[in-house]
Amino acid sequence: MKDCLFCKIAKKEIPSDLIYEDKEVMAFDDINPLAPVHILVIPKEHIEGLQTVKDSHQEILGKLLLTASKIAKQKKLKGYRVFFNCGKIGGQAIFHLHLHLVGGWKDLPEFVELVRRRLGEGGAI
Ligand code: 5GP
Ligand code: ZN
Repeated sequence: MKDCLFCKIAKKEIPSDLIYEDKEVMAFDDINPLAPVHILVIPKEHIEGLQTVKDSHQEILGKLLLTASKIAKQKKLKGYRVFFNCGKIGGQAIFHLHLHLVGGWKDLPEFVELVRRRLGEGGAI
């Protein structure tokens, strides 16, 4: 996709703080982190979002989760959350599939408060 930000990041046309990369996926730090650790895991292939995946995407969907799990282990996260924002109403701003991996807080209320604040500003998590 020509004008897709994450396709450009995948092709290294735009720099990112790279955490992991292989033939199929890439993981990099979110530019506006919600948590001490906030990483995005994307397929290199352009897929609009979870709302448009097909049966043929089964393998890549598994790979995104497995990659997030390995990164969380590597970063020794005690607890973390992974999520997709799906569609505009679901808070998706970038229409290239990406799994959010957030963690690194001392306790859960810290995260709940952050989300509340961001939603209060009219944003999404
Ligand atoms: P969405 O709301 O689409 O699920 O999440 C998009 C995420 O991409 C947001 O958390 C936002 O901070 C992040 N983001 C937007 N632009 C850039 C960028 O240029 N580089 C990086 N690393 N992250 C970005
Ligand atoms: Zn794309």
